[in-house]
Parts: sequence; structure tokens; C-alpha cells
Amino acid sequence: MEEKYRQVVEALEKRGIKAVFIPTKEEARQMLLDRIPAGASVGIGGSMSIQELEVEEELAAKGCEVLWHWRGSCPEQVNSLRRRALTCDFYLASSNAITQDGRLVNIDGTGNRVMGMVYGPPRVILVVGINKLSTDLEGALDRVRREASPPNARRLKLKTPCAITGECNDCTSPDRMCKVVTIIEGKPGETELEVLLVGEKLGY
Ligand code: SF4
Repeated sequence: MEEKYRQVVEALEKRGIKAVFIPTKEEARQMLLDRIPAGASVGIGGSMSIQELEVEEELAAKGCEVLWHWRGSCPEQVNSLRRRALTCDFYLASSNAITQDGRLVNIDGTGNRVMGMVYGPPRVILVVGINKLSTDLEGALDRVRREASPPNARRLKLKTPCAITGECNDCTSPDRMCKVVTIIEGKPGETELEVLLVGEKLGY
């Protein structure tokens, strides 16, 4: 393991957050599936990283109930899935940025994803690609506004300045996707939080 990844893993563990470095996406996928027992309920936050790992089918095949609002077919169902996902046994997501000293920085327009990470399902697994690594807090906040928000805004067809220009102007758009910004500084009291740090690019 490269020194900088070892440092991040150690920094997370010092904060009470379980962490492991996994070189490849495929290995991360398998580890994620191994962590979740047959029959468990699994909520998923909005996450390109989890989508890229394609775990839904395999979880369903072993009897897990998977609740993901991205699979909702109307606004009411989407909202219901968001809420029900917060009561599952497990919650899967990524993080928008992770600092070298183990802070997890996230933005959210609705709030369900950042809520699920800290107080909802008792076990939370975040799968984080190396592209999310930032030197420090300032770099992490910069990353979420420059690198995470513009492509996500375009994907969701949101009317935000960053979707058009690729730059953040601290907008007041109703579509603002960073209405809530969280920094996880340590293991939340009632949540077993684990980070699978993947040695490849994952999500954005
Ligand atoms: S404040 Fe507005 S422009 Fe800036 S990243 Fe958030 S949504 Fe985009």
C-alpha cells in the first residue's frame, strides 16, 4: 500500500472509523458483498460509486431487501424509498471527499444521504475511490464544488450555475445540491462506520 493511502487509513481509524485499503474495484465489490449477510435490509444513498459496483442484483439474489430511491418510478415512491432506506440494517454510499487526515466531506441537496451516513442504519459502508482524496479540508470543500457538483448537477438535470459553467458561485438556486454540507470528524455515536478506500477511480 502506498504511504499516502496508509496514512488515510490510519487517520480514519484514529477517529474511530473502520477503514481498509483495497487496490481494485472488483475486490471492493466482493468485500462489500461479503460484509452484508443474507436477508439483511440495505439502503443505498445517491451514489455513482455504488452504482458502478453493480451490487444490487447479487444482494437481491441472497435475499436482501434493497431500498434505493434511484429505482423509484414517481416522486412519491422516490421519497418513500429515501425514508425507508434510513431504517435498514445497512446503508451504502460513497463520500464526496476524504482528507489526508481522515475527515469525510459531503454535500446533499435533500439531506437523506448525509443523514444515512451518521444516524440511521446501524452499519454504514462508504466506498471511496482514490479520486476523492484531498490534501486538507479546504481542498475537500473545493473538490466537492468543482469536481463533484458540476457533473452531478448535469446528471440530475439541475438548474444550477455549476451545471452550466463548471464553477461554483455560491448560488441560491432552489436546485442547489449543496444545501447541506457535512464534515464527519469521527465515528458517529450510534453508527458503525466503515470506509473501503479503493485504489482506483470510482464515481465523481
Ligand atoms: S452552491 Fe450552487 S453553484 Fe455552487 S456547487 Fe452548490 S449548486 Fe453548484
